[in-house]
Amino acid sequence: MPEAKDNPPAIRLASKMTDLPGVGKARARLFARLDIQSVSDLLRHLPMRYEQQAGEGGIGELKTESIGTARGTVQNARWVASQGYGRKGRFEATLVDDTGTLSLTWFNAGYLREKIHPGINLRVQGKVKLFNNYPQMVNPKWEPLDDPDATPTKDERLRPVYPATEDLPSTVIEKTVAEALPHVLPGLDDPLPAELLKHHEMPALAKAFEMAHQPESRDDAGVARRRLAFNELLLLQLGIAMKRAYVHERLAAPSLMFTPAIDKHIRARFPFKLTEAQDKVVRAIAEDLTKPTPMNRLLQGDVGAGKTVIALYALLVAVADRQQGVLLAPTELLAEQHFASITRMLEGANVSTALLTSAQPPKTGGERKLLLDRISNGEVDIVVGTHALLSDHVKFHNLAVAVIDEQHRFGVMQRAAFRDSNRHNEPGPDGKRHVPHHLVMTATPIPRTLSLTLFGDLDISTLLGLPPGRTPITNRVVRPTQSDEVYRYLRTRLERGEQAYVVVPAIDAVGNESSKQLTNVRDHAKLLQDKFCRGFKVATVHGQLKRESREKIMKKFRDGDIHVLVATTVIEVGVDVPNATVMIVEHAERFGLAQLHQLRGRVGRGDHGRRSLCVFISDPTTEEANDRLDAIAATNDGFVIAERDLEIRGMGDFFGTRQSGLPPLRVATIPGDMELLQLAKRDAQAMVEKDPFLKAEDNKSLRKVLLQQYGESMGLIDVG
Ligand code: ADP
Ligand code: MG
Repeated sequence: MPEAKDNPPAIRLASKMTDLPGVGKARARLFARLDIQSVSDLLRHLPMRYEQQAGEGGIGELKTESIGTARGTVQNARWVASQGYGRKGRFEATLVDDTGTLSLTWFNAGYLREKIHPGINLRVQGKVKLFNNYPQMVNPKWEPLDDPDATPTKDERLRPVYPATEDLPSTVIEKTVAEALPHVLPGLDDPLPAELLKHHEMPALAKAFEMAHQPESRDDAGVARRRLAFNELLLLQLGIAMKRAYVHERLAAPSLMFTPAIDKHIRARFPFKLTEAQDKVVRAIAEDLTKPTPMNRLLQGDVGAGKTVIALYALLVAVADRQQGVLLAPTELLAEQHFASITRMLEGANVSTALLTSAQPPKTGGERKLLLDRISNGEVDIVVGTHALLSDHVKFHNLAVAVIDEQHRFGVMQRAAFRDSNRHNEPGPDGKRHVPHHLVMTATPIPRTLSLTLFGDLDISTLLGLPPGRTPITNRVVRPTQSDEVYRYLRTRLERGEQAYVVVPAIDAVGNESSKQLTNVRDHAKLLQDKFCRGFKVATVHGQLKRESREKIMKKFRDGDIHVLVATTVIEVGVDVPNATVMIVEHAERFGLAQLHQLRGRVGRGDHGRRSLCVFISDPTTEEANDRLDAIAATNDGFVIAERDLEIRGMGDFFGTRQSGLPPLRVATIPGDMELLQLAKRDAQAMVEKDPFLKAEDNKSLRKVLLQQYGESMGLIDVG
């Protein structure tokens, strides 16, 4: 054996790929293209599936019509170009051993000219066919045999198939992994307590990695996957549980006074009786507000479910105790709408309210300054506003309840937006930071799996059903060829005094060829005005308009001065125009499922007894688009839609979850691993209950991994 000049570097998890034998600079670059920079990355690069490899035998023993493996020496090799087809053609070779000859063909694989030459030794695997009485394999998998005398793999075995590239095939990754495993597995730290693993009958982490990369059976691979998925989910759930523990132990909120008399007073303000579902939610909220721990509650309810009165209820509990409340809305128009309905309900009451947006009151003149002063010295009880409340750092005297409407509009992580909004914010005598209670509301129903992951740190209330008096929306999916018919019908609804939205995907006819063929706001509005809606007022609204003009148009529509609004998806959120009963969506196949459902929520909001209609005009060209349209037509239930949406799109794309900043799950799948997720949640809660900040010796390495992976994204850095 030649003497090594330098000692080869010890291979550890943190080692660079080039520290592994067989990995030079060039190959390391190929690994880097798969995001594998270190041995640790390599360990985590798990097979996407496994293939049963038949035991290796002589070429003469290959069975036709089954997958076989053989080795031999290349005898002939040639490239046969297809005539007139540029790079197309086939690469042919023959492989021989003592028992026979195997013919090999690879189609369009010109690059093999550089790799396979007569005289080299190969191992090939593929389906065996009989061709001119010779066994043949077409497009077999192959690998060069560096040492032709190595003992053949007589045994059948399961081979991992890794995510790979053309230049870095799965077989090479497999070999590299095999080099690394013996170095890193023995010392691999398992963050999970041994007792827990024993309880769930799960292997240790090192064993799990070994079983994932080199399983002896499919069962092995399954056991490994379960353990690795559980690992991810448990860490996630621990992060969530620690965050809750942090809120509990380090933060305080005013425990508000609440009595049956206060409850009665508040309800007397509403023009209707709360539904049973609303009643249940306000009771939960009232209970939260009487506690000295900050409320962190998410209220999810379909569009039109009646979330606004619940917001007002919470705000009024604060006011009843002489403290302040704030309601944050995602747009000026919604803020104004909330402000108007709240002031209406509070008419004659001794509650002072104010509206604050970036435009209102104007920045010049003393009015805004005056309002800010009144808010900060506590003269205003309830402030309704937009993001300006946050960006202008509006200070409150004693803000006790903050409500954030349509919170997904603000990004997933903005849930405790008003934590620092009180003028006096020093820690109390108990050493705790004093913060307001938070209620976030969303009209995008959250599938259960996501509420356990992304929203796990919140208590969740669900407002099921719609207030009484609503007639469910009728849905129709039609072909573009039927659109004239649809618009002729629209006219009959307009003649009855109803109004309509028409949603189209483009603003005007500019852009590339394919977008030119889309229905656009400008041309479509003209077509409708001239052809189908003569005598009615058609107007347009889209994202390129200035916010003020957009809102002016929306107001006119709300007041009935505009009959048909041709729009892009800017109308998606929250506006309430009960007289709008028809929604027509052009090119519906281009919109996401959740988006279609949100759009649909703009109609069906009146209690006038007229049936609202939603027509999806579409020409789906993919199966996925077809699935979406089937789903939207099949149900008006936002929760069913949300579950379907998650199934079709996967978690990464589900609304805003990409922005969540959480590390992606690599092994666990959502919603597939629901059961494992529940298990992880229970375990995490039990562990954190015993040891809130995981300070115990047993939990040390768990804590370390947790802070590494989730510290920043979950704000755990300041957790003890
Ligand atoms: P969202 O949940 O979409 O914010 P809203 O709060 O805007 O829904 O309520 C939708 C409509 O339902 C409003 O016009 C509201 O006045 C009405 N509404 C809410 N609760 C009730 C109720 N309990 N009885 C009758 N109408 C109600
Ligand atoms: Mg609303």
